[in-house]
Amino acid sequence: MPPKDAGKTRQAQIFAIANQKGGVGKTTTAVNLATALAACEMTVLVIDLDPQGNASTGLGIEQQARERDVYHVLLEELAIEEAIVETAIPRLSIIPSNTNLSGAEVELVEAERRAYRLRDALARISDSYDYILIDCPPALGLLTLNALAAATGLLVPLQAEFYALEGLSHLMQTVERVKALYNPELKLAGIAVTMYDKRNNLSDQVADDVRGYFGDLVFKTEIPRNVRVSEAPSFGLPALLYDWRCAGSQAYIKLAAEVLKRDGRKVKLPAGAQ
Ligand code: ADP
Ligand code: MG
Repeated sequence: MPPKDAGKTRQAQIFAIANQKGGVGKTTTAVNLATALAACEMTVLVIDLDPQGNASTGLGIEQQARERDVYHVLLEELAIEEAIVETAIPRLSIIPSNTNLSGAEVELVEAERRAYRLRDALARISDSYDYILIDCPPALGLLTLNALAAATGLLVPLQAEFYALEGLSHLMQTVERVKALYNPELKLAGIAVTMYDKRNNLSDQVADDVRGYFGDLVFKTEIPRNVRVSEAPSFGLPALLYDWRCAGSQAYIKLAAEVLKRDGRKVKLPAGAQ
């Protein structure tokens, strides 16, 4: 169910967290940025739009709580309100996914408003949240199209490694097409450099290249490669709950502060943020 103060006039920022490459930090960013925003007193909803269900796992959602999932919402078999699951983190909810979602691309091919299923559903609840973060699968198919058609902004995690910039131009072309055909309001909300390793010159070079090209659209905060961040999901916890003090968690808090500032919101950092 949406939070009780539903109906207050706020319009959620809806971020599609997308990059057609796998393993670049989409899910890690969705889970930890969402947790950091919730820690900054925002009301946040994560939508797990990847059939692998990693965001659901990372937020500690048990298998039996994933039955009323985003798949049934996209197929219009379930009202979106019925699919919202609260997490253990105050102000943070999720619409989970499970493997049945992998069938949705095929099952929706002939469906009416197939690119707008998520947008139509979110229109019913978006004023109950400050932020809605959509964790996309590693492909530019119908699921990611649903996310981009529903989003106010695209947030791109970019792994600081050699091939990172390849594929980015394809992603930008896709954004232009989606803008022209489905969602004129879509903008590039930002690029977050992930798995940054300051001992590695290549990491620096990739960050410099992407900044040279995208300028201020690249967040100042780089998310460091940090083993605590990669350990956290196996405990069903965001890094911020697994190890609040680690460099990765603190970086996600800084990233959240940047997001809030860009949106012109007051930043109330949680106690203990460095
Ligand atoms: P995607 O969703 O884009 O496929 P993930 O967020 O699942 O990518 O990240 C891929 C892998 O890299 C996961 O095993 C994750 O734990 C690890 N990872 C992501 N970010 C970091 C980080 N900052 N430091 C260390 N490992 C990370
Ligand atoms: Mg993922």
